[in-house]
Amino acid sequence: MIRYALACEKGHAFESWFQSSAAYDRQVKRGLVTCPVCNSATVDKAIMAPRISGAKKHGGAPPPLPAANAPAAETPAPVAMVSPQERELRKKLKEVREHLIKNADYVGQKFPEEARKMHYGEIEHRSIYGEATPDQAKELHEEGIEFHPLPVLPDERN
Ligand SMILES: [Zn+2]
Repeated sequence: MIRYALACEKGHAFESWFQSSAAYDRQVKRGLVTCPVCNSATVDKAIMAPRISGAKKHGGAPPPLPAANAPAAETPAPVAMVSPQERELRKKLKEVREHLIKNADYVGQKFPEEARKMHYGEIEHRSIYGEATPDQAKELHEEGIEFHPLPVLPDERN
């Protein structure tokens, strides 16, 4: 396995593991390697500034970083290491969520009420989603009413 430091066309830096450099080439060509930040498939190996000049002789101390010449306002890009499995999982979570939202009724804050009515047979069972406070959730659980939190993806929280 080889780890590559990668960057997308927008300059987001991330790292990913590949079986080999050939596997890396293949996956990039097919657009399978995507930026975890913006999903762009236009990615390339990040440039490792101090090592790019291969002509230098080995043995000496590494050349100091040109701190004085560095761009003044270099905004740090968000970085992440996302394994292919994790990306797959995220995709599935998103699908589950979208499926649920498409096929269930949104009942908002009436969720505990509706869930209870269904549980006690007052209304027909159907898929619903909505909001419940932690206290309400606890009560529902204590009454033996089964429900599940909607999977939330980290970047959808705001
Ligand atoms: Zn990006």
